[in-house]
Amino acid sequence: MTTIHLPELCLVALIGASGSGKTTLSRQLFAPGEVLSSDAFRLMVANDENAQDATRDAFDSLYFVARKRLARGLLTVIDATNVQADARKRIVSLAKEFDVLPVAIVLDLPEDTLLERHRARTDRPFGAHVIGQQVGHLRRSLRKLQGEGFRQVSVLSTEADVGPARVVRERLY
Ligand code: ATP
Repeated sequence: MTTIHLPELCLVALIGASGSGKTTLSRQLFAPGEVLSSDAFRLMVANDENAQDATRDAFDSLYFVARKRLARGLLTVIDATNVQADARKRIVSLAKEFDVLPVAIVLDLPEDTLLERHRARTDRPFGAHVIGQQVGHLRRSLRKLQGEGFRQVSVLSTEADVGPARVVRERLY
């Protein structure tokens, strides 16, 4: 059983390539309002969750909402690939801005599993090479996450880790 202990108030970065199961896991671990998904914001600003030209508007909107939530003292989860250091840097600075702990939940599944899922999906029109690039970024990032400022890093590497995963929230005194 994978149990992830989280402070009651924190900023959670989900990190994983497309198809690693970030959105599925976020539904398993968190309440719907707690999760800010870049796909959902792309859909809201551009009617298309794959609209890459809407990335900036989608993230501006996502961060606007994240700030409102953190100002209210609410745990917030950012569901985006977050495999690039720049994306994670922005999350760590947001956590600092509100004096909450930035934590990372990483989905590092085997590339073959991701490619198999990608082939089965009709909602991700990009080529399979993109998955390989994202996995490369992720693997190079893994050792750096603590140094980037994430106070806690949980890595789920197999479907057997993900299936029964649960979160326990702890009050910090
Ligand atoms: P994206 O970054 O493209 O939005 P994601 O990381 O959020 O992807 P999901 O949307 O959660 O991934 O899942 C991608 C696909 O993989 C879906 O078809 C989903 O049903 C499947 N999937 C997710 N988690 C699992 C799992 N634990 N076992 C089997 N299939 C899964």
